[in-house]
Amino acid sequence: MIVGVQPLAGFDKLLHYKVPENLRADVQLGSLVRVPIMNQHKVGLVLEVDPIADVPVERLKNLTSVMQDYPALTPDLVELAKWMHGYYAARMEAVLEAMIPAAVRDGTRVKQEKYLAVARPALADELAALRKKAPQQAKVFEFLQQQFQPVKKSLVLARLGATAAVAAALEKRGLVREETRHVERIGYADNWTGGEVVTGLPPKLNDEQAAVVSSVAASIEKRKFAVHLLHGVTGSGKTEVYLRAVEQVLAAGGSAIYLVPEVALTPQTVARLRGRFESAGHKTVVWHSHLGEGERLDGWTALASGQARVVVGARSAVFAPVRELRLIVVDEEHEPAYKQDETPRYHGRDVAVYRAKLANATCLLGSATPSLESFANVRGGKYRLDVLTKRVDDKKMPDIQIVDMRIEVMRQRGLVTLSRLLVDHMQGRFERREQTILFINRRGYSSSMQCRKCGHVEECPHCSVAMTYHRADETLKCHLCGHQRGSPVVCPKCAAPDIRWRGLGTQRVEEAVRRVLPRARLERMDTDTMSKKHRFREILAEFRAGKIDVLIGTQMIGKGLDFPNVTLVGLVDADLSMHVPDFRANERTFQLLVQVAGRAGRGDRAGEVVVQTFTPKADAIQFAKRADFNGFAEVELGVRKKFAYPPYRHLIHHIFRGPNPEKIKFFAEHWVKQVEKALGSAVEIRGPTPSPIEKVKDEYRYQVWYFCARATKIVPELVRLQGEVKWPKDVTQVLDVDPMSLM
Ligand code: ADP
Ligand code: ZN
Repeated sequence: MIVGVQPLAGFDKLLHYKVPENLRADVQLGSLVRVPIMNQHKVGLVLEVDPIADVPVERLKNLTSVMQDYPALTPDLVELAKWMHGYYAARMEAVLEAMIPAAVRDGTRVKQEKYLAVARPALADELAALRKKAPQQAKVFEFLQQQFQPVKKSLVLARLGATAAVAAALEKRGLVREETRHVERIGYADNWTGGEVVTGLPPKLNDEQAAVVSSVAASIEKRKFAVHLLHGVTGSGKTEVYLRAVEQVLAAGGSAIYLVPEVALTPQTVARLRGRFESAGHKTVVWHSHLGEGERLDGWTALASGQARVVVGARSAVFAPVRELRLIVVDEEHEPAYKQDETPRYHGRDVAVYRAKLANATCLLGSATPSLESFANVRGGKYRLDVLTKRVDDKKMPDIQIVDMRIEVMRQRGLVTLSRLLVDHMQGRFERREQTILFINRRGYSSSMQCRKCGHVEECPHCSVAMTYHRADETLKCHLCGHQRGSPVVCPKCAAPDIRWRGLGTQRVEEAVRRVLPRARLERMDTDTMSKKHRFREILAEFRAGKIDVLIGTQMIGKGLDFPNVTLVGLVDADLSMHVPDFRANERTFQLLVQVAGRAGRGDRAGEVVVQTFTPKADAIQFAKRADFNGFAEVELGVRKKFAYPPYRHLIHHIFRGPNPEKIKFFAEHWVKQVEKALGSAVEIRGPTPSPIEKVKDEYRYQVWYFCARATKIVPELVRLQGEVKWPKDVTQVLDVDPMSLM
């Protein structure tokens, strides 16, 4: 038996090995193995079984060992890896490293920890006797009884002041059992139940939901590849549809993957899912970036062994090694967060669709504002469209009011943060004890420092972007590289004392609100507060409990949150997302408005939305006001078609960067000539041009754009050409296929 192995050792090459007799039963396609390379034993993955070797068999070396008794990648995942390698022009090693967590690739690094759990319930008189005779044992047992899951032994003993002998005695009685787990639960040590679980009876589906559920069910039943796009307005009960589909799959013995854009930002959704699946007896793996290595290994093993059949997670959960995959749900499929911005630069949604295809599974994409890519696939007959046009229980869609800030500026004689209308509405809410959310676009260009006299804007010396002003510690910070300096009191260029703050940061909005609502309780959520993991959850809990009147934050806080007492939502500056050099700027703005508005009026009272803008007539704003996705898509797809932008063609972004701008430019220009010669009219090239952000972390950046009908034709050609050019060490170049960010 011969296998082709991709080593994880810093180079891309498939190496052939013989499999010794005693390992034959264990080595399979997708197995992690150790192989000899230059007198060392390196980890690698079996990508081919019985290939035609490139050297005579006698000269092949023997594979050293197999790492697990199950393959790390199922056959569909091996295929998926090969596809990603080709489609995204990513090194095979990088693809495999993205797919297989480090804890699995190198099992030895993970510590093992002892856990305690109740082994059997105690009889009433047994417990009474124990309380008398051995109160310590009773205390430990009763504590464990209140936990949902096994708890770390050392923590139990420390917290209750008990010794190991107490635990041993309980074990001897058969009341408690000890288990060994792979652990490194940093940050979760104080979280005794391992995360929130919300339980509740499933609601009765309304007619629209029932129709969608049966449409999706039919596809799941057929066990053939199908993609459904669920377009449901905000609050229409899409999550309930996803839940029913997952439940159907689990009941039939299959597995399901449920993707959300960001686990940390959707604690409510995750708690709801876990509640539903776990009360039906299905162990649910939650997969996100804050997991410790040990937790990752546990979750992975549970899925690979079939012990768990459902995983909820951010984009990398699309690689979960589940068996019998029948369904992948992609919630908020339009979210740019699904795209990974480092190698391999894959799009979680597109990978989900491709994996579903390889596994003959159903892919269910859902959104209130579908991406135009997915919508075009519906029109082209590739995806099936399902719709939910009404909010659950006939709740009204929120009323959106547009404030023309040009008029507001004239009225209030100067730049203003909050319009009269918004202030009036907020005051009304405060008096009625209802809650308000104010959103500000997250992009960091806000609150840059500008001199009123000479117009100077203070930029980062390393990144050519404006520095952001932070009031709290009187500093200017670069949001790209973290560079900071004290904020100047006079203009650094002309020395005039007329410095003012352009744009709206969350802090500035907070101050404006304090002025008009001095007695209101405010809280701010932005990247600064969100970096403290627990603070984020605390604020949400306080807001839910009604301890906060006005919540101010970036649009990220709006994801999947459902606060019944929020009756007013303000979007302070709708223009920030619209005036950026990106052909998706309109789409993003439309999505932002609709999603943000969707946070209002989820309870019994109707919601109101106030949108402040200097360009009230813009399509994105007008269609959002009418909640008219189809109208918007019609117009915007027309524009895309006219310019032959995606989804009508694929776009590939090529970035060249390095410390020497002349050299970068020279190589980029030279390269473009090569491509023109080799590919001719198969590709339309734009550039090279300096990137919109010319300099990041002291590296200069040039970019080239390729537009083409089929990325699968062009990417391999570009990769081949890359191999033919001799690149200098200080010129780095990166291909990004189907980019989501054009900066
Ligand atoms: P969406 O994801 O479309 O914005 P959700 O799935 O979050 O909407 O549903 C909004 C609210 O309606 C949730 O609180 C959910 O529990 C509730 N809900 C969903 N379906 C029903 C139903 N059929 N009957 C009653 N309540 C429902
Ligand atoms: Zn910088």
